Amino acid sequence: VEVGALERELLGVKRALSEVEEVVGERERELSEVQRALSEAVELLEEREGGYRRMCEENRALHEMVKELRGNMLVFGRVRPRGVTGDGSECVVRARPEECALECRNKHGDWKRYRFDRVFGEDSTQEDVYFEAKSLVRSVMRGTDVTIFAYGQTGSGKTHTMQYLNRRALEDLFGYQREDEAESARRYRFRVQMLEIYNEQINDMLEPGNTNLKVQTMSFRTTNEDSMTRVPDARIVGVERIEDVVRILEQGTSNRHVGATKMNERSSRSHLVFTVMVERMEESGEVVRGRLHLIDLAGSERLARSGAEGARATETKAINLSLSTLGRVLGGIAANQRHVAFRDSKITQLLEDSLTGGKGKSKCMMFMHVAPEMPSGQETRSTLEFAKGVAEHVVVNK
Ligand code: ADP
Ligand code: MG
Repeated sequence: VEVGALERELLGVKRALSEVEEVVGERERELSEVQRALSEAVELLEEREGGYRRMCEENRALHEMVKELRGNMLVFGRVRPRGVTGDGSECVVRARPEECALECRNKHGDWKRYRFDRVFGEDSTQEDVYFEAKSLVRSVMRGTDVTIFAYGQTGSGKTHTMQYLNRRALEDLFGYQREDEAESARRYRFRVQMLEIYNEQINDMLEPGNTNLKVQTMSFRTTNEDSMTRVPDARIVGVERIEDVVRILEQGTSNRHVGATKMNERSSRSHLVFTVMVERMEESGEVVRGRLHLIDLAGSERLARSGAEGARATETKAINLSLSTLGRVLGGIAANQRHVAFRDSKITQLLEDSLTGGKGKSKCMMFMHVAPEMPSGQETRSTLEFAKGVAEHVVVNK
């Protein structure tokens, strides 16, 4: 009896056990399924996270690249206030500083929009303009070669901009020097040169009579590392304070007019290149060298004009050649082209080593000046198109 009862009980337990086993098995299967799903989810998550991280890195790299590209070639637009030259006619240009755009109306009355790195409207101040150039100017102290151009037709405000930049940049450099020399063992030396390029001929503005100077080719290397200019026969003057600079700028400007029948005409048909050579002596004895070229270009209106004769024709040809070469060279550099035709004009020969110093070593800034009045419309459009050729990021849309 007892055995029968026990057997039955055992059978019941066995059944219960197998039921439990079944449930456990089911749970285990569920669990492993959950585990598999979980690990799949983790894998997916990791992949996504990796992708996200990669994307972030890519974005950062792209951003740096854009910054680097833009930083090497900055193109700004500046509109001269209407009427200051006596022309009271209607405006065909409007600045949209908040959108970094200049708009220009064509013959059909359509507004065409050009985007720049920055735009200065009619009410912009000289200090607004300098603010944008400041970090570039200061980078010369760390060994960067900086070139700043003023481009535009005669009367568009190039000299107005550059005269301020020349003085203000030096003032800033001297201020920076004082601070740094007070805080460190570094010492600075500043020297300047002032050249005029007229009819593809280089003349020294700091030494009257010193004309038709030669530009050393890039393959020419002096044993003297001190050489910071490609025109060694031009006078180089040391400057220690802003008064020295002001005096030299005045002297250079007045020399420029010697021999020119009409001074304004000569100045609008030649390029004026004011160069500041900066040397920084580190405590270790190492010398860091940087150059700042401040360039007031010849009036661009000659580009469009033809049919001139005699002396005018020669000037026109020289300006056409140098400005179009400059445009091609800057466009080539901005587009990372391998072969850039520096040899085709004096101004590009002069600047070759400054413009090709390599990543981070050369920076270029161009101020495109436009006169807003109706009669200048054609020249304004050609200036804006030139900007587009120099920097691909100067885009146009309707
Ligand atoms: P450019 O050198 O291109 O021929 P200028 O710099 O001589 O032109 O400018 C022509 C005239 O317009 C000058 O009388 C100048 O003082 C004036 N001018 C140019 N830009 C401005 C400006 N932003 N604000 C006030 N006057 C200006
Ligand atoms: Mg001028």
